[in-house]
Amino acid sequence: MYVAIVGAGPAGFFSAAALLKVDDPTVHIDMFERLPTPWGLVRSGVAPDHPKIKSVSAIFTKTAAHERFRFFGNVEIGRDVTRRDLLTHYDAVIYAVGAQKDRPLGVPGETLPGSVGASEIVGWYNAHPDRSHLTPDLSVRAATVIGNGNVALDVARILTMQPSALGNTDIADHALRALADSKIEDVTVVGRRGPLQAAFTTPELRELGELDGVHVNVDPADLADITDDDLSAASQVTRMNIDVLRDLATRPRLPGQHRQITLTFRRSPAELRGADRVEEIVLARNELRDEGGRTIAIDSGERERLPTGLVVRAIGYHGNRLESVPFDEGRGVIPNIDGRVDGEMGEYVVGWVKRGPSGIIGTNKKCAQDTVDTILSDLAAGTLKPSERPAAPPDLVERSGAKPVLAEHWLAIDRHELAAAVTSGRPRIKLSTWRELLAVGHETVQPH
Ligand code: NAP
Repeated sequence: MYVAIVGAGPAGFFSAAALLKVDDPTVHIDMFERLPTPWGLVRSGVAPDHPKIKSVSAIFTKTAAHERFRFFGNVEIGRDVTRRDLLTHYDAVIYAVGAQKDRPLGVPGETLPGSVGASEIVGWYNAHPDRSHLTPDLSVRAATVIGNGNVALDVARILTMQPSALGNTDIADHALRALADSKIEDVTVVGRRGPLQAAFTTPELRELGELDGVHVNVDPADLADITDDDLSAASQVTRMNIDVLRDLATRPRLPGQHRQITLTFRRSPAELRGADRVEEIVLARNELRDEGGRTIAIDSGERERLPTGLVVRAIGYHGNRLESVPFDEGRGVIPNIDGRVDGEMGEYVVGWVKRGPSGIIGTNKKCAQDTVDTILSDLAAGTLKPSERPAAPPDLVERSGAKPVLAEHWLAIDRHELAAAVTSGRPRIKLSTWRELLAVGHETVQPH
């Protein structure tokens, strides 16, 4: 059976591993990836100061070395190879393309210069080749991060960390230089609901309180109305978050803490203002109400103005439509039942484009196993029938004229990045442009 996996992030690699684990030597996998590099968010989403989370890439490398696995980077479905090609030449296609767009805020001024999506700034500091040209203005004193999830906390932390603490990470060189010159002193994180509803997790919250030279402001008034009943009804994560927030709220600002992060709650952006770039954000104060068991934020009509030169919108990601593959625009996912694309035969989906942009890297392991289980049950039921074929699928990529980054080319990039870091004390120095990545990949080993 020949399976095409579209997307080389964690969901794609966990799916490949789950398929290769099946005791069937006829299962072959071709993985197609738009970027010249594999690993998806493990390379370009996970914060550079979280190397432990990135260590999962060792497992992906092992999968990639499997004799029945092939990698085709720098190949875009819809541009180089079509959905039709994949369906014609593979028995099953698994879409693992993630959620690459920032959800829009939908407020006036959102597109002013100085307002950036989290995917842009996170990609920028992680050397994503589509984002390396960005030049976020860090000459401003105050920045605002919208959202109360882990991405918002990642961004707030990276913007306030000492450059020396980032200097031993794999952060993009251009970001390291820009952050070393940053004038940002004040980062406000804006949550639209209360601390009980925050989406961030406790280790990420705790990390803010451990940053060198950074004071974290939490207004005790935001915690004052939290009752024991609220806490016993809350999840364990929320209870631990409240413990950390209560501790942060008691801490005085210490000498030497030149930067601060302010965690605000019950506020939503109403407008971004500025003559030709963001100068201030207007925040609506919210009241919280229960609606059918869910706490929702309602605009109280009251407004606050906050001077800010940089706004990062970290309110969640949204999937992109992939050629003619069925797509639910509202949810940003490929509609599916248990990973089987709705109404289609031989097409499957996994990861954020299957279930929406939530969960940690490891969540994709179970998600991938579920999708692979669906494939196996379709095989057993005979609704998925591997075709009788004398040989492997034709080389679709070669036919398309694309210049793929094959496994050996990626390994050349990998070796180059690791070697560049040898005397620096950093784990790797990432190549951050398409030009460099393709040049290093292709010039060291000729494609065959
Ligand atoms: P998220 O966890 O879904 O958080 C999104 C936040 O944006 C929520 O606080 C949400 O508030 C808020 N929001 C949504 N729409 C809004 C609006 N119109 N105005 C104001 N606020 C709005 O998403 P994420 O932070 O992008 O993270 C994605 C996933 O990756 C999460 O599962 C996260 O845990 C994971 N992740 C993990 C790590 C880590 O493990 N270290 C790091 C980064 C990301 P409501 O709750 O009110 O909707």
